[in-house]
Amino acid sequence: MPEDLVTVVYFSHALEPFDDAALLALLQISRRNNERSGITGVLLYHDGNFAQALEGPRLAVEEAFKRISADPRHDGIIATAVLPTGSRQFADWSMGFLPATELPEASRRRFAAVLKGQPGAAEDLDSIAASMLKTFRDGLPRMR
Ligand code: FAD
Repeated sequence: MPEDLVTVVYFSHALEPFDDAALLALLQISRRNNERSGITGVLLYHDGNFAQALEGPRLAVEEAFKRISADPRHDGIIATAVLPTGSRQFADWSMGFLPATELPEASRRRFAAVLKGQPGAAEDLDSIAASMLKTFRDGLPRMR
């Protein structure tokens, strides 16, 4: 029977800025936990804001997202629904990190606008999340 795979994408604001050491610690814990629960995905941090994609078995993703949402280090979380996905897009990454410096300037500006609550007039969260996923996929070769 095929796995019940789902994806969720969210955006949030860090309450205190994360420096490199804090990001590394976050990634280490995330990778350890995600490996254990079969979650893969990508994290982006830019200018005090996060975007993250989590994919994996439904129960594992829902449980991890609940835990992450309750983390007091960030707030203002806006998330897509947890949606079924046919296959993993980030299968090699228990949590890939895409440095903001590796984003094309246009994507960086768009990401900043979304987090300031100024997405394009006709955009909804799902289309923003879909374009974030594309940015993540395009960034796969530059992920760390
Ligand atoms: P713990 O042993 O409880 O904590 C691990 C370490 O994290 C601690 O030693 C400490 O250094 C740090 N830490 C935890 N909470 C705090 C806090 N409130 N303030 C300061 N430092 C703290 N977890 C995942 O499992 N997978 C993910 O993909 C993931 N992505 C995240 C993305 C973001 C943007 C954020 C903010 C958090 C994310 N987390 C993720 C972390 C998650 O919110 C939980 O902190 C973590 O899952 C707890 O795991 P644990 O109980 O094994 O670790």
